[in-house]
Amino acid sequence: MTYALRKEGEFGILFNMEKISLNQSAEQKVLKGINLIEKGDLPDNNLDNIWVEFQGSRGQFLAKGYLSAQNKGAGWVITRQQEELDLAFFVTLFQMAWNKRQAYHESKLITAYRIFNQDGDGFGGLTIDFYDGYSVFSWYNEFIYSQRAVIIEAFQKALPQIKGGYEKIRFKGLDYESQHLFGQEAPETFTVLENGVCYQVFLNDGLMTGIFLDQHEVRGSLVDGLAAGQSVLNLFSYTAAFSVAAAMGGAAETTSVDLAKRSRELSQAHFEANHLELDHHRFVVMDVFDYFKYAKRHDLSYDVIILDPPSFARNKKKTFSVAKDYHNLIAQSLEILNPNGILIASTNAANLTISKFKEQIEKGFGSQAHNYVQTYRLPADFQINKKDESSNYLKVFTIGI
Ligand code: SAH
Repeated sequence: MTYALRKEGEFGILFNMEKISLNQSAEQKVLKGINLIEKGDLPDNNLDNIWVEFQGSRGQFLAKGYLSAQNKGAGWVITRQQEELDLAFFVTLFQMAWNKRQAYHESKLITAYRIFNQDGDGFGGLTIDFYDGYSVFSWYNEFIYSQRAVIIEAFQKALPQIKGGYEKIRFKGLDYESQHLFGQEAPETFTVLENGVCYQVFLNDGLMTGIFLDQHEVRGSLVDGLAAGQSVLNLFSYTAAFSVAAAMGGAAETTSVDLAKRSRELSQAHFEANHLELDHHRFVVMDVFDYFKYAKRHDLSYDVIILDPPSFARNKKKTFSVAKDYHNLIAQSLEILNPNGILIASTNAANLTISKFKEQIEKGFGSQAHNYVQTYRLPADFQINKKDESSNYLKVFTIGI
């Protein structure tokens, strides 16, 4: 089923702007350059899904933005100027975002990357990814979703070279999560390039696409030979993109572990896209915590272990949160890591600061000697709000023992 783009007039909210007074601490936050508004910043009136003008504690103009409850936060500051948030505003926004990524457009080694990233590109609640000519819009709240007719119109005006678009719904309340939006339809699956390596992607099958684009540089380090000649264990592997990168960089063998059954076929597709033989590459459908036990029982150990868990997971027996339990993953990995081995520890939890993440890692290492070799944060296509540390959510350390 197709859900039509509704016209802006139907909502009546495009020109309707409520004034909202922020308390003093929220005012300070906005003045500091933070754009994400939280529930506690707002007066107790049930306004939601509406453009707003934020006012300071003395009633002065602070910023324009909108309110809409989302997974993280209750609204966004969009501009600190008295400008209209209309079609022309979005056209300029998309052109500027596109121009910032010139190096990516010109590179022959990469055809999938982010072309609009939340408030790093001037509008929180929206991301747009580029997959070899097609675009994928992610709407993070109901308000931005309600504005999508004008947003898509502006996008097509700004970037007519984009062949077609898909959308992903990243808030609760609708009965679909993915659909084709405009222009040409992409093939059901096709390959994109990154660091010269092929990955098989799909743009209209649930929220995921077969690859997490924010890990370009970490995969790049593997393609460049970080694990050359080594055995690699990739935990929480999803489609085994890290394993493919390692194999292309000369890894002797890889093992990819994920509990989702579908991960095996999707992982194989990435390997096949690069004509890699599967003899030395294993795909295991298993809970990572069971795999630690399995590996110890079978005396398996590895030269490089990659840890990239979801921020939060729950299964029948237990819950896992990176903020509280990451140390446990490190400690268990160390038991099956070879001497002179390397751990790649990654998290995308925005609510975990880099220093808190490091504390978890240190707790996992205990008294065991180790050294931090490399740190990765979001790559340049994932523009961040430099005033808001939480917008640079990706944290990856390469650690040697
Ligand atoms: N590292 C991946 C992305 C990981 S996404 C990449 O680079 O593409 C998180 C993955 O963890 C999901 O595929 C999910 O199925 C898997 N997962 C969650 N809990 C798990 C567990 N306890 N054991 C194994 N896999 C798990």
